Amino acid sequence: MSIDITNVTRTYHLPDKNVHAIRHVDLHIASHEFVCLLGPSGCGKSTLLKILSGLERPDEGTLEIDGTKVNGPGRERAVVFQDYALLPWRTVRENVAFPLELAHVSRKDREEKAQEYLKLVHLEKFADAYIHQLSGGMRQRVAIARALVQQPDILLMDEPFGALDAFTRMELQSELVKIWQAKRPTIVFVTHDIDEAIFLGDKVVIMTPNPGKVHSIVEIPVGKP
Ligand code: ADP
Ligand code: ADP
Repeated sequence: MSIDITNVTRTYHLPDKNVHAIRHVDLHIASHEFVCLLGPSGCGKSTLLKILSGLERPDEGTLEIDGTKVNGPGRERAVVFQDYALLPWRTVRENVAFPLELAHVSRKDREEKAQEYLKLVHLEKFADAYIHQLSGGMRQRVAIARALVQQPDILLMDEPFGALDAFTRMELQSELVKIWQAKRPTIVFVTHDIDEAIFLGDKVVIMTPNPGKVHSIVEIPVGKP
């Protein structure tokens, strides 16, 4: 699915000042594209991603998914955060199945689906483990499986590998590229790491700070890495 952001502005009102997180941002993301949003800390990447997810509303401007204006979250979009946001008192399988539970999928079907997506992230042997037993890389794999089990057309990722060590991060980057090639979701991936953006994205959107604006868009020839 494609995404269109038109003239989006988001201002946070603090007691002593107004912070313009992003201002007059226009962005088109085509179906199946892997786009990295790159920029320094504080330039408004997370704010833009939250607007794409529907978790935040813009003060001004519009968000369209596949040409239809939307005003909040939707099942065609799933989000992965840096801090995993998993349920610690549930098993790996239960965490992955959780979105299906919310969607009233039968127990049998959700367990089958959860197992399928755990296999995709190489965690099928850990289905009965609890989150606190897992390493950071494994937790992020669970979070990715939980997002993908909803079969979203759009995967929104906010510095998902930011808390991982360099080796685990490389491993997960390669796995994510394979998942993208297999499932073909549209991916918007926020990062402040230039190497990560260039390795992952087939397009890199560079944002500038104060206030956040799209500064330039670099298209990277497909066929890499
Ligand atoms: P990035 O993800 O690029 O680091 P953010 O979108 O998190 O940038 O933040 C952009 C700007 O908006 C920053 O100046 C930040 O301090 C401010 N900001 C973000 N969220 C809030 C909030 N909930 N309340 C007030 N200011 C915020
Ligand atoms: P990752 O690269 O996913 O972060 P680690 O490098 O921490 O994983 O661990 C390497 C391997 O050790 C894992 O793929 C897994 O097979 C095993 N492992 C890690 N944590 C646990 C655990 N809590 N229980 C059992 N095996 C584990």
